Amino acid sequence: MLRSIMLRPPDYSYGDSQPIVAIATALSESALAIVRTSGKGAIELAAGVFSCPMELKAAAGNTLTHGWIVDEKGALVDEVLAAVFRPPNGFTGEDAVEFTCHGGIAVVRAVLRVLIQAGFRQALPGEFSFRSFMNGKLDLTRAESIMELVASKTDEARSRAVERLSGVLEREIVAVKAMLVDALSSTELLLDYSEDDGIPDAPDGQFPEREAIVEAQSLLAELAASYRLERLFREGATVAVAGRPNAGKSSLFNRLVREERSIVSETPGTTRDWIEAWVSIHGIPVRLVDTAGLREAPETVERQGVERSKAILKDADLTIYLVDGAIGENAEDAELVASLKPETTIRVWNKVDIADIAPQGYHAASAVTGQGIHELGEKISDILESLGGRPGSTRDSGTGSPGGSMRVGIASARQKDLVDRALAAVTEALRRADDGLPLDLVAPEMREAVDALGEITGEVTSEQILHNMFGRFCVGK
Ligand code: GDP
Repeated sequence: MLRSIMLRPPDYSYGDSQPIVAIATALSESALAIVRTSGKGAIELAAGVFSCPMELKAAAGNTLTHGWIVDEKGALVDEVLAAVFRPPNGFTGEDAVEFTCHGGIAVVRAVLRVLIQAGFRQALPGEFSFRSFMNGKLDLTRAESIMELVASKTDEARSRAVERLSGVLEREIVAVKAMLVDALSSTELLLDYSEDDGIPDAPDGQFPEREAIVEAQSLLAELAASYRLERLFREGATVAVAGRPNAGKSSLFNRLVREERSIVSETPGTTRDWIEAWVSIHGIPVRLVDTAGLREAPETVERQGVERSKAILKDADLTIYLVDGAIGENAEDAELVASLKPETTIRVWNKVDIADIAPQGYHAASAVTGQGIHELGEKISDILESLGGRPGSTRDSGTGSPGGSMRVGIASARQKDLVDRALAAVTEALRRADDGLPLDLVAPEMREAVDALGEITGEVTSEQILHNMFGRFCVGK
């Protein structure tokens, strides 16, 4: 399916079909790197700088050709493998050649330069994905999932993104939309009929396919509710470790980084006030922040640390408040804990290896022996997931559900806005129908819902939406 959206060229240059080129891999020393091209005539153009031009031009789609990139003076630039794609196959659905070259920074830049000299234009951010969308190879939910996949920090986030890439969300949206379109057709049929024959609008209780609309409404409500949890797995949460000096904050921080899987290595903060690390706690990307100096301190540097710690605590999704169990809770602890929200605070009785039994309301742990640390991880993920609205928010769609056996969730703010719009319109349509309002006042609300769902997949879309979306992609994607 080719998409037909009119794009005005001068202020919006995604619209042309010129052959484009971009480096698709990170610019750093590596074994291999990919320089990607696409567009009408791309294979011919690429053949112009390839050591075996005839072979490349004759190559069938989805095949590899070995050779060298040669510059305008005939000098060898790099030894490469050229993957050739021909319409309608390949990622973009256009003529395309992807060169796998050696992963040196100078090598990749030289290959790019030679290809630009050969007539390719540097691709805009997300332009390959944009073309894939325009050529009907990707809907917008799958285009967005590419970004999510690349940005995923944990295996859980990756698996959720890859399900969307496989089209689960697209299928769910298409299915809900089909239900509404059916119901809308029946409504419109009735409208036509009543216009012709003067039959009064359907009275209360006779709204066609009410059941289907109620079902669509509940599917939309579930989708809307899935957003917070999907966002949690995608963007992660901030968990701060707080407590008085010597309570064991740094020890616990280090223990959690070691026991829960570290995503990125620990990075020291600017000064001595705090450090943070990304860890995966039950698949949730958690930015773990070790605060220090919560106590009012006299020196300016320390005071800045105190202020920053307070700011961290304010922004944190969850705080682990540590008390040194060997000393016990004092007035200062009580005051600090009172300033934290109880539902997002886990109070930890640390040093339980040398302390008395933890009092009520405390989680007993030892940052040194590791006792209670695994359970602490579970508590953290439980609270974060419940903040994300876990119960009923993701679901394993059983048989008969449009999503098949995979979890269906929405991931972007754009999708969320449109699902909300569709849900509000469906709810209003039902209200009007149930209030016995004439069908010509019900139908527009349903049409509005259908349009919003069409925008999610990109069936109906505008230049501005596409610009905003693909403009956020990397060059080469
Ligand atoms: P912070 O100032 O809150 O960051 O505390 P530290 O992590 O630096 O710990 C202060 C002292 O308590 C260090 O000597 C740690 O080895 C010790 N410590 C921390 N956690 C435990 C624990 O669970 N058990 C025992 N026995 N000692 C601990």
